[in-house]
Amino acid sequence: MKTQFSARTVASIRKSLLAWFDQHRRALPWRASRDPYRVWIAEIMLQQTRIAAVIPYYERFLEHFPTVEALAGAREDQVLRQWSGLGYYSRARNMHRAAKEIVERHQGKFPRTLEQALGLPGIGDYTAAAVLSIAYDLPLAVLDGNVARVLARLGAVRGDLREPRRWRALAETARALLAPPSAGDWNQALMELGEIVCTPRNPLCGECPVARFCRAVALDLTDRIPAPRRKPAPVKVRIAAAILRDPQGRVLLVRDPGAHDSVLFSRMWQFPAIEVSEHAQKELADHLEQTLGVELSALEQLPTARHAVTYRNVALLPFLARVAKLPKVARTRILTLGKLGSVPVSSATRKIAAALLA
Ligand code: SF4
Repeated sequence: MKTQFSARTVASIRKSLLAWFDQHRRALPWRASRDPYRVWIAEIMLQQTRIAAVIPYYERFLEHFPTVEALAGAREDQVLRQWSGLGYYSRARNMHRAAKEIVERHQGKFPRTLEQALGLPGIGDYTAAAVLSIAYDLPLAVLDGNVARVLARLGAVRGDLREPRRWRALAETARALLAPPSAGDWNQALMELGEIVCTPRNPLCGECPVARFCRAVALDLTDRIPAPRRKPAPVKVRIAAAILRDPQGRVLLVRDPGAHDSVLFSRMWQFPAIEVSEHAQKELADHLEQTLGVELSALEQLPTARHAVTYRNVALLPFLARVAKLPKVARTRILTLGKLGSVPVSSATRKIAAALLA
């Protein structure tokens, strides 16, 4: 095993951090047991989502789907409804497919080998290592943004940490530091340190159990490591959406792959919408005529909503169209706005609906 720390320092880092974790570990709901199903659900939800935001979703999700069999037996729209609001819906779809595979091919047990875990939909290196180490104590080191930041500061690693060569070196360090016999505790300790002490800005070095081994502190580099990532400039996108409403206050939702943006609306129920350039109203009216056969004389513009998706800054331009009768078209759904929560919709769709009440 290759590491930039001596064997003695590695032993001291392990001892200090594990002792700290023993005292400071937060009582998070997914830590109540080492049930691999629960650990797996938490790890998927925690990808790109803050812990505080995940907790209520996690608890509600497990009430609905307490076992992998319950998840595997659910319909996709039931799963998406419980996920609704967490974003990045491909995570939920993959999780649902993986649950079916676990039931069908692994007798309802999350696999115990890295190879089998990586064979499940939506499971990459990080998730596999996290679940297998936390649930089964398999000696696999996790490396995510939090862990990478801690390791980079400990070793004073400069430059963009996501640059492949550097990321591989950090993965090597993570493997070398992994503390037997409890890989799960060790991984969680590193993640916890990154989340609550070695934070991206203003790390609390005075409270850090491994400060005496930290080269970033010794070299006064904590505010320069990690180096800022070079992100592509955000792309501006304008999406016009139509709330077709009849005199009974009912609206029309569509689920047609040709009529929506798969990232923004996550292939769930949505208002008819289209990306527009300059003449939003006209382009939307043309789109409604082509896809739904509706000819509209008036579209009333509602307040614009902002929505950010990865590197896109989206302006949502909602329009209200009062119609005498909603069109009857395949793969559409008619409901009152109050019932929007009863079908899976993305947060962009909720923002469009909210514009009507603004
Ligand atoms: Fe992070 Fe500070 Fe601890 Fe170094 S001493 S690992 S910079 S919190």
